Formats: sequence, C-alpha cells, structure tokens
Amino acid sequence: MAIRFLEAVPAVCVLVLIAARFGWLTADGAAASALVGVGIYGLTGIRGAEVLLGFFLTATLLGRLSSRRHGPRNARQVLANGGVALVSAVAWAAGARWCLLALPGSLATANADTWATEIGTRWGGPPRSLAWGRILPPHTSGGITRVGTLGGVAGALWIALWWGAFPVLVGGVVGMFADSLLGGTVQVRYRCAVCGTETEEGICACGGETDLVRGVRWVDNDVVNLLATAFGAALTVLVARVR
Ligand SMILES: [Zn+2]
Repeated sequence: MAIRFLEAVPAVCVLVLIAARFGWLTADGAAASALVGVGIYGLTGIRGAEVLLGFFLTATLLGRLSSRRHGPRNARQVLANGGVALVSAVAWAAGARWCLLALPGSLATANADTWATEIGTRWGGPPRSLAWGRILPPHTSGGITRVGTLGGVAGALWIALWWGAFPVLVGGVVGMFADSLLGGTVQVRYRCAVCGTETEEGICACGGETDLVRGVRWVDNDVVNLLATAFGAALTVLVARVR
C-alpha cells in the first residue's frame, strides 16, 4: 500500500494542479480533490483511481460544455460528490470488504446527477418537478427532463462499465432520482422579496432580502448530493447482496 501512495501523490497532484490552473477548482477545492484522489488511489489501487478519473474527466468536460457558467468547485462541493467514495475506500481498507462496491456506487450517483444536470439543462427543455410533477423554471433543483434522465442513466452506465458490475448501474440511477426527490422537497429554497427570484442563497443576487419558501435551512445542494451519493452507495451494496 505504501508503494501505491508513492504513485498516487505525484499522479493526483499533477491532475489537481492542472485543474486548479484552468480555474476548475478553488484552492480548498484542489486540496479536497487531492485528499480524495490520493486516498482512493492509495487505498484501493488503480481500479479505484480509474473509476474516479472516469468521473472527474467527464464531469469536468460536460461542465465546460455547459450552458451555464460554473464557478470553480470548492472543497464542500468536492467532498459532497467524492466524500462517500473516500469513506468507502477507507472502510474497505480497514477490513469491511463489502464496502468496496459503495465506492463506484456513490460515484455512479454523482456522475448520473452531473450528466443529467448538464445534458438536461442544455438539451432537455423545461424541467418538471419529480416530487410534484409541476413545470419548473430552468436550473431549479429537483427538476428533471426526459433527455436529462437518459443522460443520467448513461452517466451511471459509464461508471458501471468502468467498474464492471451491474449493481453500480442500479445504485447510480436510483441515487440520481433520490437526488431529484430530495432537491425538490427538503432542499432549501428562498424567494427574493424584491425581485421574486427563487434562490438557495439567504441574500438574492439583486441584493434583496429573501424569505424561506420550502425546505430545511442547512440542506443545500451539497448536502443533497452527499445524502444521494450515500443512498446510491448503500443501494449498490444491497443489490449486489441480494442478486
Ligand atoms: Zn432579487
């Protein structure tokens, strides 16, 4: 394992520095990415590293092609998507062998959600609420489109193929729906008292005060991603057991 860490540190650091240089990661986002990358590569070896790379490359690429402009990812966002995978790798290395499948399961969920969001917002038309069935304004959390959902299934399949296990596909797809459901129910939503825009922020972009419309104050998009990836990971392990 020590040898693997010696390989992991330079390989991961080069990638993370490139990503930070291109403005895809903040400084703390780069540190969190290095932690997740070195941890997974060092603990599980090339198999875990490959599947993490498969997620990182396509998520970054789709983010670049996105109709929205993304700011650089910060540590909170990185850990919301990769934290469960890292914990799975630690648990597996500590002897809980059944935790290994949780790693691709959580990444399949994160990847499905990313592909669904990027593809859906670009080509999917107006989203609907999975929880309530209503048509929503573009980019609203919890909204899904048919095109985006197909993109999400492809995103989960991509990770399942890298790993080579069918339960990963199931966990990723159901995890993606869990993400939309949580995003449309418990995720916090404010409405600006001045311009009426709905937002996740306590203060609107126009500077106006906002009122809570729905959800739980501390549950933002990152918390929803963390919960959904944990759910997708658990479901992947469960499906592999009952098969
Ligand atoms: Zn406003």
